[in-house]
Amino acid sequence: MPQVTERPKPFLFPEFCKGCGRCISVCQKHSIHFADHINARTGVVPIEIDLDTCNACGLCMDACPEPYGLIGRPVDATDWELEDPSHLFGHRPTTAPVPVDIPDQRVALPACEPLVVKGNYAAAIGALLAGCRHFFGYPITPSTEGAELMASLMPKLQGVFLQAVSEVATVNHMYGAASAGQRSMTFTSSPGFSLMLEGISYMIGAELPGVFVNIMRGGPGLGNIAPEQTDIKLACRGLGHGNTHALVFAPSTPQEMLDMTMRAFDLSFRYRNPVVILGDGYLGQMTGRVMLPRDMVKPGIPAWAVWGDAMHRRNLTSSIMLAETDLEQHNEHLNRKYEAMKVEAMADTFVCDDAEIIVVACNTPARMAKGAVQELRHMGVKAGLFRPQTLWPFPVDAFLPLLAHARRIVMVEASPGQLEDELRLALSRADVRTYPPISSVQHFGGILPQQHEIVTRIMDLPAGSHAQAVSGSEVLA
Ligand code: SF4
Ligand code: SF4
Repeated sequence: MPQVTERPKPFLFPEFCKGCGRCISVCQKHSIHFADHINARTGVVPIEIDLDTCNACGLCMDACPEPYGLIGRPVDATDWELEDPSHLFGHRPTTAPVPVDIPDQRVALPACEPLVVKGNYAAAIGALLAGCRHFFGYPITPSTEGAELMASLMPKLQGVFLQAVSEVATVNHMYGAASAGQRSMTFTSSPGFSLMLEGISYMIGAELPGVFVNIMRGGPGLGNIAPEQTDIKLACRGLGHGNTHALVFAPSTPQEMLDMTMRAFDLSFRYRNPVVILGDGYLGQMTGRVMLPRDMVKPGIPAWAVWGDAMHRRNLTSSIMLAETDLEQHNEHLNRKYEAMKVEAMADTFVCDDAEIIVVACNTPARMAKGAVQELRHMGVKAGLFRPQTLWPFPVDAFLPLLAHARRIVMVEASPGQLEDELRLALSRADVRTYPPISSVQHFGGILPQQHEIVTRIMDLPAGSHAQAVSGSEVLA
């Protein structure tokens, strides 16, 4: 007896339809038409099929370009729902050992004389001593010396230097290296950093470490290659889409470029999160005395790494979570992590114990501000310098005690108030309602505030300013 098989009629979940209409044009029975509504999950108008007139010829299924588009109608349509296989079948049995951290080792360095190097070189040396052996990037002024040193040293250290084709490629190379538990970094400058933000958001979502050294230059747009501090907002408040934050360091000397880069790798892996080092173009090019640490890091392999051996085979890094409840839980986890990062806030103070004028500055402008404070002290003015070394989190706990004797806060920055915004937000979050008036010395476009104008502006402040309710700011440049 001949076996009779029934040809399946087409089946479609509307969320897989791209609305191209190819199936409509091939159907000789005119059984397919566009729906009269937009699918809320895709934003396009899907097709609908009249199965009563369909003769199951199959032409539409052949015409559909979507892999999960038109298919032979399954017996149970729910077979085609997207589901996590681990929910359906449980975790796959495996005899592989449970992954554990292979810890870092510290290797003693021989004593040596201080180096005299540029800030960019100091950060690159710090990265190598922190165990970074994967560099992705490209020349971009004023950060290029970092990539240049990495290009010459990585091959000698069995490391990887890859000149990426773009900023987007750079950050995704870092994503891949970080997934394997490797220490990776890039040097960039403002417009390049902007292009990396989407990838940084993905790294934060997937909880992947990596160190971004952004040597800020003048903007907006292509701007120029002179120093500015106008990426503070970007690094502290705008790391791509979604609920993102990263530790943001603000070094002021070549020594801090080295020390903070080493620390950045440590914290990046501790929190499984990118870390940003914000320098300015002047600091990147500035030559200074740099002491090397007593030891360097030989990195291990973290338990979560997708390393490729049997122990790490079950690992997966991903930032995609389709279920709303899963993604909310992940964001709550990230929020707890951001909260925990607040213990890493750091600040440096200079003669602040009795200061009535608190000058706040970071990066290179903090050097001019320190000179101004010294000059003011010689003139009998009780000025002090508060220098945030982390911009996110802002070290507000170190700042609050200074308010007890402060009569005026003076922000010194090469930006139109982005550091001041961070201070004001930190005070607001700390529930501080009353603080002294804030004045500002600002430059941008590649011009840094100078010591003499900081002194002049402070000497021109109205005498006898007293703590008062928040009343806006006074911009003095
Ligand atoms: S199977 Fe044939 S008849 Fe049925 S909708 Fe597709 S093209 Fe039209
Ligand atoms: S061919 Fe496939 S994707 Fe295109 S409209 Fe038809 S079902 Fe949708």
